[in-house]
Amino acid sequence: MTDLAVDTHNTFNAEQVRQDFPILHQEVHGKPLVYLDNAATTQKPEAVIQAIVDYYRQDNSNVHRGAHTLAERATEKFENARVKVAGLINAPEARQVIWTRGTSESINLIAASWGRSQLKEGDRILVSAMEHHSNIVPWQMIAAQMGATVEPIPVDNTGSIDLAAFEAMLDDSVRMVACGHVSNALGSVNPVEQIIRLAHAAGAVCLIDGAQAMSHLQVDVQALDCDFYVFSAHKMFGPTGVGVLYGKVELLETMPPYQGGGEMIETVSFAGTTYNQLPYKFEAGTPDIAGVIALGAAVDYLQSIDRDAAERHERDLLEYAEAKARAMPGITLVGTAAERTGVLSFLMDGTHPHDVGMLLDQQGVAVRTGNHCAQPIMDQLGIPGTVRASFCFYNTRADIDRLFEALAKAKQFLV
Ligand code: PLP
Repeated sequence: MTDLAVDTHNTFNAEQVRQDFPILHQEVHGKPLVYLDNAATTQKPEAVIQAIVDYYRQDNSNVHRGAHTLAERATEKFENARVKVAGLINAPEARQVIWTRGTSESINLIAASWGRSQLKEGDRILVSAMEHHSNIVPWQMIAAQMGATVEPIPVDNTGSIDLAAFEAMLDDSVRMVACGHVSNALGSVNPVEQIIRLAHAAGAVCLIDGAQAMSHLQVDVQALDCDFYVFSAHKMFGPTGVGVLYGKVELLETMPPYQGGGEMIETVSFAGTTYNQLPYKFEAGTPDIAGVIALGAAVDYLQSIDRDAAERHERDLLEYAEAKARAMPGITLVGTAAERTGVLSFLMDGTHPHDVGMLLDQQGVAVRTGNHCAQPIMDQLGIPGTVRASFCFYNTRADIDRLFEALAKAKQFLV
């Protein structure tokens, strides 16, 4: 008989990969850390940490404007990271990769720049009902300025987008469809190919929020044919403070700058200022140079592992966790869409998610509790939030065993 705790048909060597992540090897409250909060932020491999150290020890200099060796080295590494990110997502050209501070800033940039230049009274923006607040609020803000409206695309109570309802909402008043690739609250993998196709057929522009997808899926922006794809470095093993905005050239070329300052200009004069070319037009001021270079190291790291095997391993982890959750009396899964990745969201009968999270932490198990910045879908489900265990490829079945042992103890204490 197969021992449930031993994954026999999985070729991914998670134990070996864990050696690359120094933070995982510590005790919390006297217990070995089990890190299951990857949807909030992923941990960083040694190569990413080292890239930050190396930059500050050897190359620290401002990019693009120096006439000296350090500035040249910093600029080369900085621009090389752009090429690496473009390669990772199969962007046609590196100038289509714009550095931001994160997914939130990428969406704010698009909402402000594209929105202010394109939207008019009566236009409609559609976002799925389970979006992260970062893909709702920037649209509400620009819609209020331009006289447009933001409407939710219905999502059923399993966490699946209702594609028929979406199609019925589409007409030529819809100018933007903004949808997450993977839900951070429920783990649903949305049918973005169909959503993009339907949006385009109605003449709308389509933005995909890839914040939760980049660590789990191999993304190809040309195959998707999305107009914008946005994500955060820190959710794909890179540092905090850096994000990516990919866009189609024809859209980026027509969009006005988001912020003014150094770097984004070509010439400045009181008679009139002209703007720099892509991507610099959208990159005012000194960027997070170390962060960008470290994101490049994260891309190298991702490309050094077997992504297909990692995906299979993550699928196995989710199935294993789900089977354990279903076998444990008093646990209710929240989000059961057919296609999911990386997230087990649940409630324990008779308990508040925060109390469960606190008791798990005391046993060394890190999860997240609350509405996960997705209040509308929690309101629809009639719950204040969930306990969310989120996995990535360095997690193991042993981590999940620890989660459920800790849950059993929490239950004894709370129920
Ligand atoms: N979109 C999704 C789906 C997310 O999960 C998150 C972060 O949790 C964001 C957007 C916002 O990302 P950031 O805080 O890095 O800007």
